[in-house]
Parts: sequence; C-alpha cells; structure tokens
Amino acid sequence: MLEVEDGSSRHFCAISASHAGPFHACLDCDSHSLHCTPCIVDFHSCSLLHRLKTWNGTYFEDGSLANAGLVLNLGHNMSTCREGGGKVHTHLVTVIDVNGLHNVRMSWCRCYGFGSLASEMFRLQWLPATLIRPGTAFTFRVMKLFQMLSHVARTSAWEFCMALLRITDNVQPDLLPVSEGYFSYF
Ligand SMILES: [Zn+2]
Ligand SMILES: [Zn+2]
Ligand SMILES: [Zn+2]
Repeated sequence: MLEVEDGSSRHFCAISASHAGPFHACLDCDSHSLHCTPCIVDFHSCSLLHRLKTWNGTYFEDGSLANAGLVLNLGHNMSTCREGGGKVHTHLVTVIDVNGLHNVRMSWCRCYGFGSLASEMFRLQWLPATLIRPGTAFTFRVMKLFQMLSHVARTSAWEFCMALLRITDNVQPDLLPVSEGYFSYF
C-alpha cells in the first residue's frame, strides 16, 4: 500500500521531520515517500511531468508541480539578464504525456537567446499544438506510444486521447483543461 493512502499516520518530509507541510507524494517517482513543498519542487527540476498527491489535512487530493511552485525557466540564466529581468514572461501550458495531462508553468526572458516558445518546446521534445504562443503540447514520448498503438492495436487518435483523459482523471475527465471537446476533430 502506498504511504500516501495511509491517512491515519502522521506525515513527515522524508528529508527532515522538521520541514513543515503541506506534504506531497509523487505518483511517478519509484519512491512514494512524502516531501514538503520546497523538497518536492527541488527533486523535480528535471522531471516536470510527474503527478502529485497533496495531503490537505483530511485526505490526499490531486496536486501538481505547477501548484507547488515549480517553474521551468527557458532561455538564459536570469543572473546574466541584460534587462534586469524586465522582459520576463510566464505562461501556463498543458502538456500531454504518457501518464496524462500536466499543467507546466514556464518562464522566459526575451532580452536575448530566445527564439520562440514553440522552438523551445521542440528542444524539450514536446510537439506544440500551435506555433504561435502555444498553450498545449504533446511529448514526443506520447506521440511514439500513439504511433505504436495505432499500428499494432488499431487504436484511433480519439480513443487514445480519451484514454489519456481517463488516466489523468477517471472520475471527472470533462473538467480537465483539455477535455473531450478539444479532441473532437480527431
Ligand atoms: Zn516524481
Ligand atoms: Zn522537506
Ligand atoms: Zn533577460
């Protein structure tokens, strides 16, 4: 049984019992131990597309790394910014991966070395849904999975997208930011 399912026990951050809550469990890390918000964000700087459960004092509810404060910084290091951070943009995008849908908060500065958000997504191996200010992207990984399922199991694009919605939320998939209507043209 996952530690996250044991609502009866008192919860601690695995790094230090002195760290304050709220506490989170990652459903996609092999370890299911709990971590406080700064520790869970720290551990996932290179694993943006993991899903969280967050203890709300009564039960574990759906959480996200974006809500915990994780921001993916694109372009140059802010310490070298020629504009003093004056041209920083942040953007919340929906990324569709093999483990469902994710909200990812991205930040970038246009002072130099930044082509476009779409080109930065390609560098991350994400396929943006549009080239102009994309709000949705598919990982190359999920596209590869669809290619295999399409060839081997004759899964349609619509069926595949419905399965991804259900992987994300099997109770209320219609309430997701990208829901059935988004995929209706497939
Ligand atoms: Zn994780
Ligand atoms: Zn901690
Ligand atoms: Zn800058």
